[in-house]
Amino acid sequence: MTDPVKRILITGGAGFIGSHLSERLVQQGHDVICLDNFFTSQKTNIAHLLGRPNFELIRHDVIDPIKLEVDEIYNLACPASPVHYQHNPIKTAKTSVMGAINMLGLTKRVGGRILHASTSEVYGDPDVHPQPESYRGNVNPIGLRSCYDEGKRCAETLFFDYHRTNAVDIRVVRIFNTYGPKMHPYDGRVVSNFILQALAGEDISIYGDGSQTRSFGYVDDLVDGFLAMMHNDTGFIGPVNLGNPVEFTILELAELVIELTASKSKITFATLPSDDPTQRQPDISLAREKLGWEPKVGLREGLGKTIDYFSKLDLSLYRRPTNNTVK
Ligand code: NAD
Ligand code: UDP
Repeated sequence: MTDPVKRILITGGAGFIGSHLSERLVQQGHDVICLDNFFTSQKTNIAHLLGRPNFELIRHDVIDPIKLEVDEIYNLACPASPVHYQHNPIKTAKTSVMGAINMLGLTKRVGGRILHASTSEVYGDPDVHPQPESYRGNVNPIGLRSCYDEGKRCAETLFFDYHRTNAVDIRVVRIFNTYGPKMHPYDGRVVSNFILQALAGEDISIYGDGSQTRSFGYVDDLVDGFLAMMHNDTGFIGPVNLGNPVEFTILELAELVIELTASKSKITFATLPSDDPTQRQPDISLAREKLGWEPKVGLREGLGKTIDYFSKLDLSLYRRPTNNTVK
């Protein structure tokens, strides 16, 4: 590697995205500290890294302060699936807000750089389409998704206030729906649900009539975007959208999963959860311009890799993070 070895902290490092990032940074030779409370993950995702001399695991909750000496921080700790972040909404808000305060305080003390994993949910149920970073959103402050949406919005506020008042070196990315191998099989999000249902020949559970849209980004593209943003020294700190702008209805996703798994599953329609956004597509002009980043993996290719992963997964090794996922 050409870069100097850095000490890098990843909060939520055992989760879906965090484990891919951990792996990438360990492979690059950096000293990686993975911090996680294992609410929505298990050691399974990072077990293969545990013996590596440049990988360290800390079981810790980000709502409590911690003293570590590091050069860079990626702040990912937070349940991301609606069924899991709604399980204990007060804890979700605490994780976002107190986690941000603790990690910003740590960054301020060590003088490092911190990248925050924000979300397209800061746009709520958007009435501007596609969503540019300048759009301020349409968020219900008292709904079932608010613990996550408002928690993430408050975290963004804290990041920019620490930057303005304490010169903390921040980077903020707004992640759109991301999928890939190492999603928890009982994560409850649409891609993992549909794939597991299709592989098992069970009914595919569409919420609502399936006309709502999402734009699905493959995890490797997202990790590329994280690194581009963390290493950007032009003064651009974000927020920046990271996602794949190709938009699909949920019905189209279900049909594609059935096709790619050659499944005999039938599609069923259940009640749409409240405040479920009707449309979502990132405007990634800023990422293209400032980072030279754009996604490379299309949905068909990425789903193929994800289906391959889930078809070989030993489900008996996994416990359900909560009882809220579909049976
Ligand atoms: P994930 O649930 O797989 O990972 C989150 C990780 O954080 C898990 O390992 C979990 O155990 C850990 N965690 C949760 N609360 C914690 C706490 N209080 N202390 C320490 N660790 C804690 O989800 P993910 O998809 O990998 O998401 C990672 C980050 O990216 C999250 O902050 C999420 O909000 C953000 N994000 C993800 C997506 C997506 O589509 N995957 C979209 C937008 C934003
Ligand atoms: N969804 C669905 N069936 C499922 C899980 C989710 O139809 O088994 C829908 C959900 O209502 C939403 C979309 O798929 O409209 C994406 O849901 P997900 O939980 O993956 O993430 P969101 O983008 O809503 O945070």
